[in-house]
Amino acid sequence: MKKLDKQVGYTSMPLSEIEKWYKQLNKEYSLNLSKYGVKFPERNSIKALWLIFLRKNKGTLVHKDTISSFVASIKPNAGKDQQVRHLASDGWYILNKGDKIPNKKSTVPSGYHVLITTESPKPTFLFNSLKRAGRIAAKNFNELKAVYGFRCASCGSKEGEPHFLEPDKKTQLQQGHMNPSKPITLDNLIPQCQICNQSYQDDFVFDMKGRVVAVASVKPVLKAEKEIQDEILNKLQELRERNLP
Ligand SMILES: [Zn+2]
Repeated sequence: MKKLDKQVGYTSMPLSEIEKWYKQLNKEYSLNLSKYGVKFPERNSIKALWLIFLRKNKGTLVHKDTISSFVASIKPNAGKDQQVRHLASDGWYILNKGDKIPNKKSTVPSGYHVLITTESPKPTFLFNSLKRAGRIAAKNFNELKAVYGFRCASCGSKEGEPHFLEPDKKTQLQQGHMNPSKPITLDNLIPQCQICNQSYQDDFVFDMKGRVVAVASVKPVLKAEKEIQDEILNKLQELRERNLP
């Protein structure tokens, strides 16, 4: 990852460029972030300046003194101790000291910040927001998994961790078909571990909480005890007679 070290006095930006980045950020925010409850800083605020500098250097580790120096070039009275890390609590995908860098083995060194993207909020912020909003907010299967806390809707095993019932296996979450007689769309899916998904096959209908609410094939009926089968048969005959003209 690129790195912008501590440099003081060389970081000013023309006001027109600052305005350009602010508008750009506002556009990206409205498109990608506002719906998740990310906070947008006020024009001319110190927070806005931090964000503008990080946005200009997106994907680059920037030393905090460099950011402060840029802020001081606009606002000479701004304090020395600027808490850029707060932008991450506002939902921006900004990594601070010790945060793991995605797809890299390293973490952010002390004194640095980096803006990863403006296309999505910080993952932990996104997951909390999805959890609050529920299934309706999920736009893809990965976000749907986040709503369920990355757990199997039926047995609760957590993705990547040992399975509750078969601890020698790592839990993988698959697309569980809620109602197998309807198409596989996001609103007809629940995350299910490989073990639940395979053992239920397409024989059952599930509710949003991963509970069986109906049979989706005759197989479970054929496997049932004779008394149950007789009961089903009687019940169905009763229903049929009632519905006859
Ligand atoms: Zn399961």
